[in-house]
Amino acid sequence: MLTSPALFLAEIRPGGATTFAQVDPSAPHVRVDDLGVTRGDGIFESVAVVDGNPQSLRHHLDRFARSAALLDLPAPDTAVWARAVADAAAAHPPAPELLAKLVLTRGVEGGDAPTGWVHVFPAHDYGSQRTAGIDVLVLERAYPSDVVTRAPWLLQGAKTLSYALNTASLRYARAHGADDVVFVSAGGDVLEGPNSTVLARFADRWVTPPPELGILDGTTVGRAFAWAADRGDGTEVARLRVDDLRVADAVWLLSSGRQSAPVRSLDGVPRPTDAALQAELLHHLLTVHD
Ligand code: PLP
Repeated sequence: MLTSPALFLAEIRPGGATTFAQVDPSAPHVRVDDLGVTRGDGIFESVAVVDGNPQSLRHHLDRFARSAALLDLPAPDTAVWARAVADAAAAHPPAPELLAKLVLTRGVEGGDAPTGWVHVFPAHDYGSQRTAGIDVLVLERAYPSDVVTRAPWLLQGAKTLSYALNTASLRYARAHGADDVVFVSAGGDVLEGPNSTVLARFADRWVTPPPELGILDGTTVGRAFAWAADRGDGTEVARLRVDDLRVADAVWLLSSGRQSAPVRSLDGVPRPTDAALQAELLHHLLTVHD
């Protein structure tokens, strides 16, 4: 019988040999002294599974491996993790949009093995964000734009489990009447959202900020760029200032779960959105999986 959600737990031996087994998602599996729980010391990926297809899986697994390296965690065996994602997606009752969450922690304090799992569950309903758009606040992340080389221990650019600051910024935005956030660096460079990539359109040119600023290398924007290039438009990974966002023809926040959400206001100032273009972009993101 298919169970919902589907949970596959890893057994990772010293040296890295990894196997996964399906377990009961309603039973406890993680210890209270796991460093992922007590310190947020670990990494994750959220992969959209659309009509049964894990999207941008190779890109997600490459990023998972890069995050592991940045945290000095054992390198995940990405072929085994890919199979676990496919198995967990197949074990979940079919649904148009699921999310597969891959987690790897430093393991139990004093232990010698990381903890890992793949959890597949129904995706949040982003319907209204996709059609009506989102109100966004610009907030400071307050790190310098060269944080990656200047302070690598801050792990900017790794997808760590330490998302308390990200969720705090979203609560701040909601308390101030907005839906989401765009972070800027101390130097005024546009960075990313707390769980999204910024994409701006200037006529036939599509721009997203560079990972060198200490932001995630987004998988969704990779698929959006492929679509824009197919349209004959230009795509560019380049620095943006907040003023650039104010004058862009359109701005989106992109992420695996929501795919694309048009930004309809920035710091309370209404921005133009393009419903037809959003429909076309969203259709591409939901139907092209690599
Ligand atoms: N930036 C951050 C901080 C994120 O958490 C995410 C996704 O969760 C993204 C960007 C977008 O990445 P992706 O498109 O691969 O989901």
